[in-house]
Amino acid sequence: MASTYRIELKSGDILFREGDAPTTAFLVESGVLRITTERDGEPVLLGDLSAGALVGEMAVLDDSHRTATATALSGCVLTPIDRAQFAERLHAADPVVRALLLSQLSRYRTALATFTGNGSVPVSPTAGVESAHALDKIRLESQLRNAMENRELEIRLQPIQHIASGNLAGYEALTRWTHPERGVVSPADFIALAEETSLIVPVGEYVLGEVCTALRRIADEAPHERLFIAFNVSGRQVGDAEYVARVLAQLRAHAIAPAQLKLEITESLVLDYGKIGTLIERAHAAGMQVALDDFGTGYSNLGHLHKLAFDTIKIDQGFIRQLDDPRCLAIVRAVINMAAALGCTVVAEGVETPAQLAQLKMLGCQFAQGWLVGKPATVDDAIAALMR
Ligand code: C2E
Ligand code: MG
Ligand code: MG
Repeated sequence: MASTYRIELKSGDILFREGDAPTTAFLVESGVLRITTERDGEPVLLGDLSAGALVGEMAVLDDSHRTATATALSGCVLTPIDRAQFAERLHAADPVVRALLLSQLSRYRTALATFTGNGSVPVSPTAGVESAHALDKIRLESQLRNAMENRELEIRLQPIQHIASGNLAGYEALTRWTHPERGVVSPADFIALAEETSLIVPVGEYVLGEVCTALRRIADEAPHERLFIAFNVSGRQVGDAEYVARVLAQLRAHAIAPAQLKLEITESLVLDYGKIGTLIERAHAAGMQVALDDFGTGYSNLGHLHKLAFDTIKIDQGFIRQLDDPRCLAIVRAVINMAAALGCTVVAEGVETPAQLAQLKMLGCQFAQGWLVGKPATVDDAIAALMR
């Protein structure tokens, strides 16, 4: 009967028995398989499976013993599916989807065990750990939805300095979430979580609203300042055809000129030139600038700079931190020169020391952002600093 890609059974042959260890699942190509389980020593019919049905996949998914017996009712042809094929896909799946699947499986097994009177079914411990992790994610996601309603999300403004004059040019808005029990949750964690689902869209809208409110307050309370706020746009928002229109609507509602808002798109995204090109065109048509964030990390590709008309390149802090390394210095110098040739301005991120700032000034870098210039501050503190 055996071949690695095709199994043939005669009527009455048993494919696997209740209690067997799982090795393989099967796709029924032809014929009928009867699935039974034992109750008080008697076989009970669970169902008949015919062409197109999967059989034996449950035990392979959760690594439990077979909870039923499969017997050919007629001549059958089956394609075996190695457990590794399922395991690989299952591991690649979204952990939340995996938790849902394993939870349903465990519920079915419990129901089956109750029905047959075979007691409880042990669940593999790794499934438990994984589910706990996935459930924690679901919990955090619900809390993030709540956080917007309770206004627990806040923006901090980090100053960006014009190096030659030493003047403040604007800020980058960085989002902070203070969870009532977990404390401060890093944006690296909750933005990544929000980006896994469409939750990033309301989070992004919320942050944009906060940015517009801050720009309005700066215009009202420090009218002599002409400052911009740069704000991080996530990959999902980039793909939204109406995105720029919605940004403009928010700006209009707060009576803010589009030139005061800059969009940052991180290079760690696999950039979709078509979509980002359209976004940049629309932003430019409205008078808004767009920056390429974290340049030099992620999917660095000169095509980004060739195909996309970014106004600003933000050199990632990883390079600025190592400016004392001659190779790193050579790269930063080359990026600044390349940006100048392309007509782009450069912001150095993560500037922490006077030596780094002096070096950047010598290289002709226009803007600096980092703890030396200022840490991210609340909007109140940023406005108070403008008044001094
Ligand atoms: P980013 O846009 O590259 O922001 C700069 C990050 O570097 C910020 O981290 C900032 O606090 C940190 N930083 C600034 N200066 C220094 C310095 O001198 N030294 C060091 N060591 N770090 C410095 P943060 O606030 O943790 O944000 C991390 C990332 O999360 C941001 O990187 C951005 O990609 C993302 N992010 C933050 N807020 C938002 C948001 O509202 N929406 C989206 N889509 N992403 C956001
Ligand atoms: Mg940024
Ligand atoms: Mg950055």
